[in-house]
Amino acid sequence: MNPLVPAYGAASLADLSSSLLAAVGVDGDNPLGLAPAGRVLLFLVDGMGAELLRAHPGVAPFLSSLPGGVLTAGFPATTVTSLSSLGTGIPPGEHGMLGYQLAVPGAGYLLNCLRWTAPGPLVEPGEWQPAPTVYERAAAAGVPVSYVGPAKFETTGFNKAVYRGVSFVGADEVDDRIAGVRHALAEPRAHVSVYYGDLDSAGHVTGWGSSTWLDQLALVDRMAERLAETLPPNSAMYVTADHGMVNVTDRVDVDSLPALREGVALLGGESRVRHLYTAPGASAAVLDTWRAVLEGKAWVASREEAVESGWFGPKVRRKWLPRIGDVLAVPYTDCAIVASVAEPHEAGFLGCHGSLTPAEQYVPLLEVSTR
Ligand SMILES: [Zn+2]
Repeated sequence: MNPLVPAYGAASLADLSSSLLAAVGVDGDNPLGLAPAGRVLLFLVDGMGAELLRAHPGVAPFLSSLPGGVLTAGFPATTVTSLSSLGTGIPPGEHGMLGYQLAVPGAGYLLNCLRWTAPGPLVEPGEWQPAPTVYERAAAAGVPVSYVGPAKFETTGFNKAVYRGVSFVGADEVDDRIAGVRHALAEPRAHVSVYYGDLDSAGHVTGWGSSTWLDQLALVDRMAERLAETLPPNSAMYVTADHGMVNVTDRVDVDSLPALREGVALLGGESRVRHLYTAPGASAAVLDTWRAVLEGKAWVASREEAVESGWFGPKVRRKWLPRIGDVLAVPYTDCAIVASVAEPHEAGFLGCHGSLTPAEQYVPLLEVSTR
């Protein structure tokens, strides 16, 4: 099986983001060829992979009735990276948000890029992700930009890194999010994003396709229908996701296989995409060991091989290279590379994501238009 390398420059989340800007009249590329609209609304459903949605049309009749296609999320297929691609309109190799847990170069510890936590001094969000956001660009062009999502996200380091420039509308209940969107769409021009996260959370705990997950999917479908009803004339809503998911049937536990810890100074990423930061001089041995142990289960590549293969995009800024593991381990079977001691909670997840498989990479791009 070959890795599904994201379609950067043609049909990835970064391309959706630039195309949305172009649709509301901000100068720039429009790789998806989206038609102009006075207002655009992006409904981002965490974890709603295209293959997952396609498997349950009866539970999501509204979404399943919409025209559209698919995009590739980007690598890794995880919230940090995808929201950053949407926030900047550039691929991961350029924005540098290259995974869930990344080594802070020279510091000897990991930064959890979503929660913005670390066992040492925290990095400055604006230095860690310095590229201008699409929201800043839209606002500079006179388009009001809003983001409607959970109130607790407003002040996080992650939001400061990738949502600079938005007018943040904290809303925890679905009704409040819909009201927030309706208010933002009252402007003659608007760029509005609304986020829903509980489908992904349910998938992690009980697996996608479980009854809890299906209840969430039904709720998302109804929310999409209600959002569509809020659209004024000359507007368009796009529904997409940050990644899909696989249900894990096999676990390789790094904390119970000493050979896998040998020479690994820091274990980053998450269970479907591991960044292995190796001790000085150990990278070749780590590569060999991990290749042998994970044969038939995972792509195991050196940093150079991963960069050369375009996993992170057509180019990777030199400055970001040390954020990438010396070795990457990326499962392609339904295998999770867990750490039962270091990450006991995540080690029990049933649904996981991050890799270069179709179930994780493909996300829907669905459209409702009142143009
Ligand atoms: Zn997730």
